[in-house]
Amino acid sequence: MSEFNPQHSLAALGSTFSLPCSPTPVAAPEWLAFNQPLANELALPEQYHASELGLALFAGNNLPQWCQPIAQAYAGHQFANYVPRLGDGRAILLADVKATDGQLYDIQLKGAGPTPFSRGGDGRSPIGPVIREYLVSEAMHALGVPTTRALAAVSTGETVYREEALPGAIITRVAKSHIRIGTFQYVAALGDTARLTEFTDYVIARHYPQCTIQQKPYLKFLQAVIAAQAATVAHWMSLGFIHGVMNTDNMTITGETIDYGPCAFMEAYDEKTVFSSIDRRGRYAYSNQPPVALWNLTRFAETLLPLLAADQPAAIALASSALEAFSQQYQAAYLQRMTAKLGIEHATPDDAELVKSVLALMQQDKVDFTVFFRQLSANTPEKAGELFNDQNSWLNWFSDWQARVTAQKQTGKHRATAMQRVNPELIPRNHLVQQAIEQVTRDGDLSLFNQLKQAWLAPFDADPAFAAFSQPASEQERVQRTFCGT
Ligand code: AMP
Ligand code: MG
Repeated sequence: MSEFNPQHSLAALGSTFSLPCSPTPVAAPEWLAFNQPLANELALPEQYHASELGLALFAGNNLPQWCQPIAQAYAGHQFANYVPRLGDGRAILLADVKATDGQLYDIQLKGAGPTPFSRGGDGRSPIGPVIREYLVSEAMHALGVPTTRALAAVSTGETVYREEALPGAIITRVAKSHIRIGTFQYVAALGDTARLTEFTDYVIARHYPQCTIQQKPYLKFLQAVIAAQAATVAHWMSLGFIHGVMNTDNMTITGETIDYGPCAFMEAYDEKTVFSSIDRRGRYAYSNQPPVALWNLTRFAETLLPLLAADQPAAIALASSALEAFSQQYQAAYLQRMTAKLGIEHATPDDAELVKSVLALMQQDKVDFTVFFRQLSANTPEKAGELFNDQNSWLNWFSDWQARVTAQKQTGKHRATAMQRVNPELIPRNHLVQQAIEQVTRDGDLSLFNQLKQAWLAPFDADPAFAAFSQPASEQERVQRTFCGT
């Protein structure tokens, strides 16, 4: 067991980047969930596990000495509009701790009361968004996607007023850090190159130490962040994940997925899918995610210009060439993931056509993205054909696919097993998340929440106990719109 080793590395940088801020105690906290495996990974002492002391900690009612609570400053482009001061309006960072993997992780309470950045907001969260974030972020982790994690969720015993009165809750979020593109925008806007250098050096040392031993460390850092985001977004796309609110303050420097507000998984394949009620023009639609990531990374590159070269034209040239790599990196990662879904071992550029053509067929016949790839991963892949109306097109595609995969050395059985490891049986389907939220909010009933939590720990297994969770939503169950709900 490694030692619990809390630090306060961001607080140590001073009040430019964060402000001290204590949680506001809540009336009557109760446990909703505690993530034991994650607590073990963080080497969190047992006294803070599912205990009274743990409850007081994760409710913000009684912080141990090892916490030094702060709210972080950040700016951000929200739907392309620049907001110079956002910051943690309902999140409070307690400490960063060294986990058993040797990495530092932030422990942060979300919904723990107002901060200097609350701008009139209450700093609280209704229980619904806490349930959503807990379920979906942990499912994303189980699916293998870089993401923030959920360590604990507690109800507060207090009411939160939105359009209606709702029970309040607090989630404890864990991340390699909560530094975002928006944090760099905030620091860059100070117009003080010394501060920008200090902050960037801190982030590089924490997250990209390999860049410090190379020439042009700031350019290497920019390239590394671009590569991390390209990989993460390609992973989202391969699972049908739609983030929903890809503002620059919701894009981490580490490439971890953050902010599970209006996020949702696509069911029937359609590139234009949008769930978020506030995304009226579809800026963050499924197929816009890669170009939006590049747009955000361009804002990030702009913040680093003073560090890239002494004169601006040279800095711009370096930033542009780094950004140009994004499309190629994204395409390569996407092709690799999508061809793996098709059981192709060594993808070639020609395979892109096979991917594209089956997606077009799925779009035309409104085929469930997850169900299709899972059925194609069965020992009887031809059965996936039952999902299509246009049988001629399907049979054409299927024979092309068979020709491609049977030319490989592996057996059909091997291929099926490999495909089942990348094509999940279970994803956090929106209607299930919604039903769990409704049951907890209305009746305080945690049973579906607990079942989903359990099922989504092993999304690539086909446990018959969870068979009902594989089904796409029926017409009545289908969720058309999601809400930030904060
Ligand atoms: P988000 O939609 O989570 O990306 O949040 C955007 C900004 O609004 C951030 O600065 C949040 O801290 C702030 N915010 C969201 N909800 C609240 C709330 N209930 N109280 C205070 N600030 C909030
Ligand atoms: Mg946010």
